[in-house]
Amino acid sequence: MAAAEMSFLHNQLEERKRRLESVVALTPEDANLEALLREVDSALDRLASGTYGLCEACHDTVERDRLLADPLIRYCLDHLTGHERAALQRDLDLASELQRGLLPPADLKVDGWETSYHYAPLGPVSGDYCDLYPYNGQLFFMLGDVSGKGVAASMGMTQLHALFRSLIGMGLPLAEIVGHINCFLCGSGLAGQYATLVCGRANTGGDAELGNIELFNAGHLPVIAVEQGNVRLLESTGFPLGMFREASFTSSCLQLNADGLLFLFTDGLSEAQGDDGEYGIERLTNLVRRLAACCAADVVSACLEDLRCFAGANPGVDDVTLLAIRHAA
Ligand SMILES: [Zn+2]
Repeated sequence: MAAAEMSFLHNQLEERKRRLESVVALTPEDANLEALLREVDSALDRLASGTYGLCEACHDTVERDRLLADPLIRYCLDHLTGHERAALQRDLDLASELQRGLLPPADLKVDGWETSYHYAPLGPVSGDYCDLYPYNGQLFFMLGDVSGKGVAASMGMTQLHALFRSLIGMGLPLAEIVGHINCFLCGSGLAGQYATLVCGRANTGGDAELGNIELFNAGHLPVIAVEQGNVRLLESTGFPLGMFREASFTSSCLQLNADGLLFLFTDGLSEAQGDDGEYGIERLTNLVRRLAACCAADVVSACLEDLRCFAGANPGVDDVTLLAIRHAA
């Protein structure tokens, strides 16, 4: 585990110790609090002696994401007791349900725009982020990937969801929203956690403005734009969010003609493995070009079908998220 993460965990444990001690001083008879305090002390002792993060059954390292989410964990996933395993499964099932509940409606259509997405976590929860939010005559769309895997990454995803929804609801310009979220993630994210992200704003208003899109690509894979058979890749113009507090973010503006298509995806698609190597952006770009006349839902399902053919028996190793947005005016 990186030094910065160890120091993050150390601070977390010291903070918990401080808080527990002040509560224990008020309620000295509480056995649960006493036990919790002993656990925190024992974790601090392990940090001091260099055995922190090693499973007490097999002495192998405990999963990094689980430690970042709960610094008191002492056993790797393989060595949980039956009771712990069942409790963890219940927590994960609930987290998975909550995360699904954050997704936008399927096949959302708003004035002049038709959308479709596919969201497939590899495990119960995902660090992929996908949202569509019509607000005040505009359609906001977001697709991103929080670094890391599992529960810690999924917490980053839920944070992004809440931040975007609240800041959009305040009527802020997209550039300000992106800047605020970057600062917030720099200050409060888990150690070493950042998010690559594409977010955009499509006008749904008067005829003259329909088709106007403002787009930010912060360290994410390119967005594929198809218009009248021509394909453009809209590449990243900035750092991932949560990496540098001082980073500035520039948007690109595009006018998408009627029937134009935007296609957004995470690396679970472009880096999927088949018998002949990686799926790749070129194969995807060629496919999306051929699908230019299809509705958004058909674009998404054709991509999934192509991925299935390509991957064959090779298992997926990452979350897969796709989003198609068609100017349907
Ligand atoms: Zn173990």
